[in-house]
This record gives sequence, structure tokens and C-alpha cells, in this order.
Amino acid sequence: MTRRLGLAVVTSLFLLLPIGARAAAPLKALIVDGQNNHNWRETTPILKQLLEQTKLFTVAVATSPPKNADMSGFKPSFAKYDVVVSNYNGDPWPAETNQALVRFVAGGGGLVSYHAADNAFPKWEEYNKMIAIGGWGGRNEASGPYLRWRDGKAVRVQEPGRGGGHGPQHPFQIVVRDPDHPIMRGLPPVFMHASDELYSWLRGPAENVDVLATAFSDKKFRGSGEHEPMLMAIKYGKGRVFHTTLGHAKPQCHCVAFIVTFQRGTEWAATGNVTQPIPDDFPGPDVPVVRPDN
Ligand code: ZN
Repeated sequence: MTRRLGLAVVTSLFLLLPIGARAAAPLKALIVDGQNNHNWRETTPILKQLLEQTKLFTVAVATSPPKNADMSGFKPSFAKYDVVVSNYNGDPWPAETNQALVRFVAGGGGLVSYHAADNAFPKWEEYNKMIAIGGWGGRNEASGPYLRWRDGKAVRVQEPGRGGGHGPQHPFQIVVRDPDHPIMRGLPPVFMHASDELYSWLRGPAENVDVLATAFSDKKFRGSGEHEPMLMAIKYGKGRVFHTTLGHAKPQCHCVAFIVTFQRGTEWAATGNVTQPIPDDFPGPDVPVVRPDN
């Protein structure tokens, strides 16, 4: 009896080994691009490099056909990856591709919506649930409420008006609203972001969304006068979505506030956890930190 038990233990240890080995392998990320009103040809290689720098990810890129071209063959294999990073804002995808992304995220996969990815797909209901709020593309009160930070909490504000807007680029402070979330844990309560577009008036279903950090959209910069969500974590089925509004172009992608939240957010979307240390050059509340272009 004892002997048989011993054998059973040995057998299960043996069976566990390959699983452990798999867990130690890098996470797989897929960046989707190919159309955007932003310079995706310039930003995708930076995003790829930032993820590879963490030593946690291998990164592939799926580039769609250009605008107005035949999209019917664009069918990335989302299911092969742990996380999909969208740098895409363009023509609708085939229904099959939409369904594959929904299945992937709802089934426990990760999605990262990077900057103008939240401008994409204004008519795709499930996508808008995944990103919680979005802007432009004809979005208005029919798209859902605004999501604002008022009196210490996130509130859904149902009122008529535009969906999406920003004033001129300027440096701004980012205020952490959920310091216990794995993405934000250990970051200073307020940190400075380099000159960027401060996305405002985003609206959408705004369901199952955790506002991780906000920025004040100052009317003197043609803003909304509200504390607007900058970083969000959304639950969608069994999956996780990290939504960053930051990172308009190459210079913003070298800002440490963008880099670190993007790296941590992508790991969280992939696994539900964050293992990366906070780098020494992370900014405080007053001065943004920009790493040299390399
Ligand atoms: Zn932009």
C-alpha cells in the first residue's frame, strides 16, 4: 500500500514537470496593427521592444491589409497568444475575426487597448464592452455614459455630448486611484507624464471597469474640466483588458510613465499578475522622465 502510494506520488511529480517548464517559458504577445490615424509603423516596433525588454514576452505582429483593401483574409490566431495588444484603429475586421477576439478574451485571454485603439470599432458592441469607453468615430450618448472620477470614486455620467476629444499636447500629472491593483502597486500616488494628448469625453458601456489612474483635463488646455480615466482594467468574461489612453507617438512612448504602466499592464492582462519591479527612474509628481531613443 505504502509502496503503491509512493509510486503514485513519483508519477504525479513526474507529470507536473512539463507543466512547470511551460510556465517558465515566455508569455506570448501579439501586436495587431496595419491601420491607424496614428503612426503605427513607428510605434509598433517600440511597443515590441518595450515588451521584450521585460524578458517576459516573445512578441509577434499581425498587420492588417491597408484601408479599403480586402480584409476577408485577416484572421490572426489570437488563441495562440496570452495577450493581444491593439495598435489598430481602422476598417472593420471580418465577423469571424471579431468572434475569435471575443472568444479569446472571454475565455481568459488578455487584451491591451493602446491609445487610439479606443477610437476603433465604434459599432462593435462587444469590443466596446472590452475597452469600457472609447472616443470619436461618431460616438455620442447612444454609445454609453462618460466615466469620470468625482468625490473619490468613478461615476458613470449619462448626459448628451461628444464622444472623445483632447486639447493640445502638454505634460500632465497622473493620479493613482487604485493603488492596490497589481498594475499600480508600488507606484507613487502621483506621477508626471511627458507631453501627450489627454484623452477626454470618452464614453461607452463602462461596465466591469476599474479606473486605475486619472488625469485632470484642464479647461485651460481645452479639456473637460473633469478627472478623466487614463488607465483602466476591465473584466470581460474570464479575461482581462488593460486600457491605456497614453502614448500618442514615438516621443510619448519613451516616457517612463507610459513605458512602465504599459509593461505592467500587458503582463497583468496576460496573467492577472505583475512580477516586474518598479525601475529607479520612475517619475515623481513634478518632472516627467523620458528615456533616450535607442
Ligand atoms: Zn493621438
